[in-house]
Amino acid sequence: MNVVLMGPPGAGKGTQARELAVKYGIPQLSTGDMLRAAVKAGSPVGLKAKAAMESGGLVSDEIVVGIIADRITEADCAKGFILDGFPRTVAQAESLAEMLKSRSLKIDHVIDITADTEALVARITGRSTCAKCGEGYHDTHKKPKKAGACDKCGGELTRRADDNEETVRNRLSVYHKQTAPVIEFYRGGGTFKAVDGMEKMDKVFAALCRILG
Ligand code: AMP
Repeated sequence: MNVVLMGPPGAGKGTQARELAVKYGIPQLSTGDMLRAAVKAGSPVGLKAKAAMESGGLVSDEIVVGIIADRITEADCAKGFILDGFPRTVAQAESLAEMLKSRSLKIDHVIDITADTEALVARITGRSTCAKCGEGYHDTHKKPKKAGACDKCGGELTRRADDNEETVRNRLSVYHKQTAPVIEFYRGGGTFKAVDGMEKMDKVFAALCRILG
């Protein structure tokens, strides 16, 4: 089963994709996570991506399409995958359609997790993640028992460099200009559905599972 999770930054794509990956036994392919790893490693891709990521802009289509084209040929994608944060432009969506067609694959579900812009700014600027196990926290909605430490594994909580208000507003504006048209690209294709991302996390998860079956 091949799934595309869409939605603005902070809508909960990453958290939901992580849970869905466990439930359905298929990997979460997050271009954001892959690019952050490349930046951290100082690889050629990371060096090219760094400035765009820091400003909240998009990394070039060529780079992200290349990353996904390689990634979906790996063994763990044989039963399918959950795309999280890709495609983010219509050109990326077209490239994805071509790469899947050439491998006789298709997208089974495109799900848009919708959310209100102002709520997203508050959500994103308050969030932190465990560097060890990936569990997510929030300054007001989900505080860890001990400040700066993960309740589950004791790992250190970190914040993304691009989760500050100025960059978040730019990411939201980039989303409306360049990524919202991707929804129109998929809408009407028979595989498209939307879920309300303003609901509680477990309700959103249940809605996603109802769609995926
Ligand atoms: P995310 O973790 O999905 O919020 O992505 C973090 C940042 O990585 C974005 O603000 C972009 O700079 C970059 N990025 C992630 N996915 C893509 C993509 N599909 N196309 C272009 N840039 C991307």
